[in-house]
Amino acid sequence: MSDPWLASALALWIALVLALERLAVAQTPPADNLRRILRNVGLGLIALTAAPLLLTLTGRIAGGVEPLVPLDVLGPIGALAVQLLVLDIWTYGMHRAYHEVPFLWRFHAPHHLDDHLDASSAFRFHFGEILISAAMRLIPALAFGIDVATLLLFEAILTANAVFHHSNIRLPERFEKLLSLVIVTPSIHWMHHHKTRVDTDSNYTAILSIWDRIFGSRNPKPRRIGMPIGVEGERDRSFGKLLVYPFVR
Ligand SMILES: [Zn+2]
Repeated sequence: MSDPWLASALALWIALVLALERLAVAQTPPADNLRRILRNVGLGLIALTAAPLLLTLTGRIAGGVEPLVPLDVLGPIGALAVQLLVLDIWTYGMHRAYHEVPFLWRFHAPHHLDDHLDASSAFRFHFGEILISAAMRLIPALAFGIDVATLLLFEAILTANAVFHHSNIRLPERFEKLLSLVIVTPSIHWMHHHKTRVDTDSNYTAILSIWDRIFGSRNPKPRRIGMPIGVEGERDRSFGKLLVYPFVR
């Protein structure tokens, strides 16, 4: 991340979520939770080494091409807002494709095989998924002239929200209900990780909760304490097996 303020704000936010996860626990973590967290962080570190490089590359390529849809007429703030919205809709569409296209599911399944959820789950992504997502993001970046700074800003907002909506925080019910009208909350996203395929294939949106409503994938069921998390009919794997999962499945 090039902007130290953005990196510091994200680090502070993660620290706050980690603290709240200890102060207001929603679901008791499993006995072997430390091993699980190390596995998630390990997968995240591998994916993270590729992400900034790919983002910069995408921004460089997109920056050198005339955008298909010029947004200059909207002014800098208007153009930025439209670009962030485009990236959020794109992320929704890609997430849905990871679930609906069997080849893509191979790369997304390691994220879903986690059998508990907390902030560490937000970093548990197979490096293959990160590579595919970065390559595909060239399409909106080229179309709307999205530069590196905007891609990094979006990535920071996305990460902040992912840490929050995967977190094991118990929020006051009314507060969470109101918040879920605008952004994805743990109650919405935990249902996406419910160990029942019909629920796993719902609630795809990453930041603004409206996309699931617009595209008909919103699951109205709230998170239940004790609900099983994971992929229906499968169990979580060791670190090494998760790394090779997309290729040997
Ligand atoms: Zn998913």
